[in-house]
Amino acid sequence: MNSALILVVEDDSSIAEDIRNRLKGMGYEILVVHTGEDAIRHAGEIAPDLLLIDINLQGNIDGVETAAYISSRWDIPLIYLTDYSDETKLEESKATSPMAYLTKPLKDRELQINIEMALRRHRIGNLQKASEEKYKAIFENSRDAIFCIDEQGTIVDVNHALENSFGYKKAEVMDKHFAEIELAIPEMKEEMIGLYEKALAGKLNYWVYSEIIHKDGRRIFIESCHDPIKLENGKRGILVIMRDVTRRKEAEQAIIERNELLNAQNEQLRAIEEYSPEAVARVDRHHRHLYVNAAQAKSTGIPQDEWIGKTSRELGFPKDICTLGENAIDEVFRTGKAKRLEISFPDGQSFDSILSPELDTEGKVKAVISSSRDITARKQIENELRQSREALRASLEASPYAIGVMNLQGIITYVSPQTIRMFGYENVEEMLGRNLSDFVAETSREKTAHNFQEILREGISRDTEYDALKKDGTPFAASISAAVIRDVSGKPISIIGFTKDITDRKRAEEEEARSRALEELDRMKTALLASVSHELRTPLTSIKGLASTLLQPDVSWDHQTQQEFLYEIDQAANRLTYIVSDLIDMSQLEAGTMRMENMPIKLSTILNKINRQLTTATQKHKFEIKAAYDLPIIDCDEVRIGHVITNLVSNAASYSDEGTTITLEARRAGEKIEVSVTDRGIGIAQNELERVFDRFYRLETGVTRRRGGSGLGLSICKGIIERHGGKIWAESHEGKGSRFTFTLPAYKIFDD
Ligand code: ADP
Repeated sequence: MNSALILVVEDDSSIAEDIRNRLKGMGYEILVVHTGEDAIRHAGEIAPDLLLIDINLQGNIDGVETAAYISSRWDIPLIYLTDYSDETKLEESKATSPMAYLTKPLKDRELQINIEMALRRHRIGNLQKASEEKYKAIFENSRDAIFCIDEQGTIVDVNHALENSFGYKKAEVMDKHFAEIELAIPEMKEEMIGLYEKALAGKLNYWVYSEIIHKDGRRIFIESCHDPIKLENGKRGILVIMRDVTRRKEAEQAIIERNELLNAQNEQLRAIEEYSPEAVARVDRHHRHLYVNAAQAKSTGIPQDEWIGKTSRELGFPKDICTLGENAIDEVFRTGKAKRLEISFPDGQSFDSILSPELDTEGKVKAVISSSRDITARKQIENELRQSREALRASLEASPYAIGVMNLQGIITYVSPQTIRMFGYENVEEMLGRNLSDFVAETSREKTAHNFQEILREGISRDTEYDALKKDGTPFAASISAAVIRDVSGKPISIIGFTKDITDRKRAEEEEARSRALEELDRMKTALLASVSHELRTPLTSIKGLASTLLQPDVSWDHQTQQEFLYEIDQAANRLTYIVSDLIDMSQLEAGTMRMENMPIKLSTILNKINRQLTTATQKHKFEIKAAYDLPIIDCDEVRIGHVITNLVSNAASYSDEGTTITLEARRAGEKIEVSVTDRGIGIAQNELERVFDRFYRLETGVTRRRGGSGLGLSICKGIIERHGGKIWAESHEGKGSRFTFTLPAYKIFDD
């Protein structure tokens, strides 16, 4: 490589020119200058590869001074040109470390060899310097402590990392035997020397793990490597690189402990899996079983060891179930996420399985663990429940009853299709959310409200009739049976009602009642005819007989006898009048045409008005009135009620002996007035007590026959009292007397 640039410094122009030509001929690039100043200036600018300089340079600065200056500034190899030997100059020039001295006149070969040698040595020197620098940099900047130890075991160099890593200053170890320094553990001395000798022989080509003592007293773990080297003095030695691995050791220890813990946990998990009541299996990505627990073996009837290494398919499980399972396993392997699966076998056995990924240390799925619970019983119950729900739904829909469910506030929450039809609605939505009262006619609202309370109280109510209301407002007769629906704790949550349209039944009942009424009327007419014909005939016969007797032309009756006959006729006519008026009253009551002229009145006022009749009727008896002082005012038809009282008093007189006492009592009974008539007469047999109020009913005793009567009196009384909203009844002891009592509601000033 001849392209080197050479700076030639020569004051003799002809020699300079000669050198230029020769060097050019050798292929070098040349710059020739004649003074030291020029040389210094150009050396900085062109950075020549070599300086060829005349040692005896003329001018301000000579060759040695120029070379010394240049060498101190730049790293340029130097060759001196000499023509005579000036010993002092030569001595001076040595300090500038020239590569060679060439004596003029120059020989070509000598010139070229020396130039080439100088260039080469300079290059090598540079390389060496660089590698030394590099080594030094590594040595000083290393984070590992580096020791140089000579053949005697003395530490000849050590870097700064010693202090950083282990706390010792360089001076503390320098020039000491490596096994004697503080850092070394005394009981390991022999071992260290053994290692050292091995290293010196070049046989320790592995990392050594041992312990040393840190300056702060701790024993710390180190790793070190030992290599034989040639020391600066050319002798053998070793280089020890030492590193603190306590952290790593601790980390390793932690990993070991964690692994032990994991293993212990895994052991526990295995034990849990093994004895779990759930069937547990572990499968690989080829669906082969790595493990199954006792429960899985038991539920399938396949022993635990027979599973291992086999797929469900190989074990003969149904194909479609295997496919389902395999797809799920593949998915868990793919996604790393757990998956839930429900499996039903053809024999009805069902399992609820959870497939979860088992991860390796890198977080990859290494197996899938399936844990399955036998849900056959639950499934069966669910099925039965579904069936019974279905059956319930079907029966609700097929039922002829209108079925509705409402909550405890009476809000409709369910209606059956029949309900929609019965109440004339279009669809379910129209009915849901409405209140029960929307489906009840005004006339029955109060009744249904009571019924609702009764259901809540009693839990059930049967066949309550009411007037239901269609969507278009038409009422219809209905009957409802209802029951409370309770939650598991027995708390009522809603009410289910079964409604029947009873319009037809009602009509039939009315029809029947009407025909019964007609029959009754018929029977009554017959009885009336029989009774009336008899009862009318008796007075008529006596009227006719007495009148005919009086009218006999051939007999003349004295005044007294005439008067007696006329009195009898008058009495008989009275009886006829009573009978006829009773008949009229009766027929009016029957037909519902009897008019009541109610007004608020005191009982005493009524008694005053009928005083004469009462006295006449009881003139042969002792008649007494016992009235309480706090009697309420009553709302009644005074004439009719007067009639009732007269009737009861005259009956009492008729059926008791003369001279006995007849008592009329009146008292308040809550919101009512109670009036009774008591006699000490013949009384009435217990079994007849009810019937005395029947129409035309008469007890055929001697007294009654003697007295005569239509048998209508008490039934008219009953009709009148009931029309007033009161009650009438009889009590009696045969042979001792009777008591007839009636009640009437008190007059309410404010009708609440
Ligand atoms: P009558 O016109 O026959 O009195 P009622 O309807 O008044 O008709 O009475 C029906 C029957 O009740 C009477 O025939 C009688 O047998 C019986 N009866 C009514 N009042 C009394 C009484 N105070 N004591 C006993 N029997 C009575």
